[in-house]
Amino acid sequence: MIDTKHQIRFNPENCVGCKLCYKACFVDVIRWDEEKKRPVFKYVEDCEHCFYCEAMCKKGCIEVVPNYESEKLLQTFDRYL
Ligand code: SF4
Ligand code: SF4
Repeated sequence: MIDTKHQIRFNPENCVGCKLCYKACFVDVIRWDEEKKRPVFKYVEDCEHCFYCEAMCKKGCIEVVPNYESEKLLQTFDRYL
């Protein structure tokens, strides 16, 4: 496993449980806690840095913070160079 030191910051204070972040994540990093009606972030190292979840959350609860020096992220950029 590659250690990306990638972070997804979640502030539940303004979360309204709309599930849009959960539906936006195509790599299964965001799961859903049906009981608490809140997203759960798992396997953050698999995040593809698409920022969809952050963009979808109109309440500003999610901040995707990529580690721009990570091996995985550099591999992603290599594809487009
Ligand atoms: S940035 Fe993209 S891949 Fe990463 S958790 Fe958000 S929606 Fe999923
Ligand atoms: S999109 Fe934002 S408000 Fe909606 S469930 Fe996700 S974190 Fe909560």
